[in-house]
Amino acid sequence: MRVDVLTLFPEAFTGPLDISIIKRARERGILDLHVHNIRDWALDKHRTVDDYPFGGGHGMVMRVDVLDRALEAVQGMAEPRGLVIYLSPQGERLNDRIVRELAREPRLILVCGRYEGVDERFIEHCVDREISIGDYVLTGGELPAMVLIDAVTRHIPGALGDDASSLDESFADGLLEHPQYTRPAEYKGWRVPEVLLSGHHARIAEWRKQQRLLRTQQRRPDLLAGRGGPEEGGDSS
Ligand code: SAM
Repeated sequence: MRVDVLTLFPEAFTGPLDISIIKRARERGILDLHVHNIRDWALDKHRTVDDYPFGGGHGMVMRVDVLDRALEAVQGMAEPRGLVIYLSPQGERLNDRIVRELAREPRLILVCGRYEGVDERFIEHCVDREISIGDYVLTGGELPAMVLIDAVTRHIPGALGDDASSLDESFADGLLEHPQYTRPAEYKGWRVPEVLLSGHHARIAEWRKQQRLLRTQQRRPDLLAGRGGPEEGGDSS
């Protein structure tokens, strides 16, 4: 998958996307990431990208003309032109279903806002999807873009060493994952559940299934709505 990011702070993208699974995915060409500075498409000598809001009010707004020029240029750099996503607290809230949908796209273009956001005409005419990472306001779209890139990359075939591991993680079947333990089996008198030490695979699988249901019921009952209740399990899709 090719991902292009339009941002006023390209330097923000070094670090989190240069380690671990995302780094490996980039090295293997599974994730082809390109970060562009929106300022490169400003026309004046101060490279201005924002202006005062019409109608008054505090803060600045990112200009539609600069954003449109930047987007046109970036879309023209490769085929296909890509799904354009504006990271915004006003967008649909990111979840596992949306992440999986986006992982099937050949190309994403992520637009990061700053200041009071972007001129509404850019959203109306140039953006395909507005996505929020939660009901709070961040200073810019860079962290949300990185969250989205990380989550989506995990679902691109080949990105995880063991492809099956994205299948039994939280949300994969509409449930939270069961608790995990590793050695030592006892620490400060804190014991690992006996069943996990039994070597009895069927009993372990049943225990994990019950734990997933219990956990989800306790922590995220909203995920169970529509599944037919914790005892019945069932498909959430
Ligand atoms: N004035 C805007 C509002 O009240 O809706 C908030 C602007 S915010 C300070 C600046 C930029 O951060 C936004 O344009 C957006 O790109 C990004 N941003 C902030 N919170 C976000 C969130 N929860 N999810 C996604 N992007 C967010």
